[in-house]
Amino acid sequence: MRKLASIQKIIALEPIEGADAIEKATVLGWQLVVKKNDFQVGDLVVYCEIDCLMPNKPVFEFLKPRGMRVRTIRLRGQISQGICFPLSILPPDFVVEEDADCTRELGIEKYEPPLPACLSGVAKGRFPSFIPKTDETRVQVLQKLLDKYKGEKCYVTEKVDGSSGTFFVNNGEFGVCSRNLELLEDSENSFWKVARQMDIENKIRSLQGNFALQGELIGEGIQDNRLKLRGQTIRFFNVFDIDKFEYLPYKQFIAILQKLELPSVPILSDDYELTNDIEEIIKMATIKSIICTDAWAEGIVIRPLNEKIELLLSNENFNNGRVSFKAINPEFLLKYGG
Ligand code: ATP
Ligand code: MN
Repeated sequence: MRKLASIQKIIALEPIEGADAIEKATVLGWQLVVKKNDFQVGDLVVYCEIDCLMPNKPVFEFLKPRGMRVRTIRLRGQISQGICFPLSILPPDFVVEEDADCTRELGIEKYEPPLPACLSGVAKGRFPSFIPKTDETRVQVLQKLLDKYKGEKCYVTEKVDGSSGTFFVNNGEFGVCSRNLELLEDSENSFWKVARQMDIENKIRSLQGNFALQGELIGEGIQDNRLKLRGQTIRFFNVFDIDKFEYLPYKQFIAILQKLELPSVPILSDDYELTNDIEEIIKMATIKSIICTDAWAEGIVIRPLNEKIELLLSNENFNNGRVSFKAINPEFLLKYGG
């Protein structure tokens, strides 16, 4: 699970050009602006990530004009993501330890954008247990993983900002799911409508096995359609073998989509050698979209060409241990308020 607020160390403090009262702090792989002299390098602090929805308490009152949300901002030219607070904001009985999660203790919730009606649908049941839900961990919390996988050959895709859909055939039954639920077929729901338009049921059946395709539903009526598409479509990013409980590696994933004539998310590279420099990865993510070249891409997703499961991740409950992560474009967040 994502730790929205946790105990972290100030790794570095650097001056910001032309600014006397503030400086740039590094916490995990995040960079943020802090008041000068509030913190020293090595201090433990309460670090609150972007997307935190803070409770109505006097210490957080300065966030009222921003709807109590922690968002990406730019101060004196410096992008700032997250907020550091002194440990004194913690309840007195909290056991302070580096990396400890204090989200619940502080009454912090996650900001979630509202879901448009065409996506919500009618639940048929819970998300099937034989397929993992889609998710990607943010690169800023993965320094250890990057150090371990540095040099690994990876593929990089554009992250498209829509709504996650899962389409499967399991033991003869075809199913359609939104991010967290299996959905009943109905004529209003976009996941089902687009699945029918793209003939996904027959295409998955033609694979003659139990498989799931996972992709992002994008287009008109979804997330403000920032890529200015006509209609709605799905760009796929996973092919999952249900019987083996495994994702297919890059080559097979692409081969299957080609055979089925279904579109993948845009592929930015298929021979990228992984760096362990988070700043460099964030720079790589600061790009315009391939789909609509005058709009910022939401970011990128990086995965090894050969699928890997990693204990460093499964221990933290990230992504079922799959080595796969995202870097969100800070310019996208600045523009669209994340
Ligand atoms: P967070 O975990 O950061 O709080 P979140 O869980 O809502 O936020 P998203 O920002 O939606 O996560 O990122 C993960 C989702 O991105 C995946 O579930 C998937 O639906 C979607 N996605 C879009 N493009 C891609 C891509 N190219 N590769 C993989 N997933 C992608
Ligand atoms: Mn997530």
